Amino acid sequence: MQIFRDIAGLKTFLNTWRKEGKSIGFVPTMGALHNGHLSLIEASKSKCDLTVCSIFINPTQFNDSKDFEKYPRTVDNDLILLQKYNCDVVFCPTDDIMYPEKTQLQIHFGYLEHIMEGKHRPGHFSGVGLIVAKLFHVVQPDLAFFGQKDLQQFMILDRLTKDLLFDIELVCCPIIREEDGLAMSSRNQRLSKIERLEAVALFQALQLAKEHLLNGKNITETKKIIYNFFEEKKSIHLEYFEIVDRNSLQSIEESIQKNQQLALCIAAYIGEIRLIDNIIINY
Ligand code: AMP
Repeated sequence: MQIFRDIAGLKTFLNTWRKEGKSIGFVPTMGALHNGHLSLIEASKSKCDLTVCSIFINPTQFNDSKDFEKYPRTVDNDLILLQKYNCDVVFCPTDDIMYPEKTQLQIHFGYLEHIMEGKHRPGHFSGVGLIVAKLFHVVQPDLAFFGQKDLQQFMILDRLTKDLLFDIELVCCPIIREEDGLAMSSRNQRLSKIERLEAVALFQALQLAKEHLLNGKNITETKKIIYNFFEEKKSIHLEYFEIVDRNSLQSIEESIQKNQQLALCIAAYIGEIRLIDNIIINY
């Protein structure tokens, strides 16, 4: 496994492979790797000749400085895992490499930045767009792999790729969960034992909503059931629960079309830790 910390070395290495006609798959991460990340590495390895994983905790996408400071940093262990999964190349730059000067560029995504994650994390998607555009320029992959766990982020990056004419195919991979259903996340490491047990409520709420929707309850009734579900869980603060069209992420206020694909999206704080999750259902 080749590890690069600078852009020039990585580019030279990848150019050699590109000249030989090899396809390049790319998995951007912020480290503290778990099986969700590793499933993206596996997906890339199954489709591409060479897999590049980046590990970079991107400061510009954190709207909460405490969240940035406390974000888990486990690079040594990450490298061991990537080696074990036969990842070919790791790019782990410093802040100075990715942001040699204070950036002025802001990226806006219209409707997509004003709902759910965008609404509750101002500036977050501008930072995500910025770092992914930089990484796409450096790595120039054929395919890039992302998790459905961050569904709205995937839609944002789809927009970015189309609007900036990146010749890259984006692949959205399924959510990998713990045995009890909790979506794997680097932030789960920060949960106390009790919080970890409580955190499964996000997945339980999504299942509950799915059951009610498929049994004929309308959007308003279903949302009420979920709000009540969290009312009783005093240690969890529900930030949002939305039922949106899977393809546009437009909110569905009342009638659901037959065969419409819905995304049920949730964000909540367990103590200080903010977690998100979603499921997609065919109505
Ligand atoms: P992060 O390191 O949190 O920026 O995540 C890097 C990539 O891994 C993103 O595309 C995430 O959507 C994806 N990811 C995170 N958690 C999971 C999960 N539980 N299952 C699948 N993909 C995930």
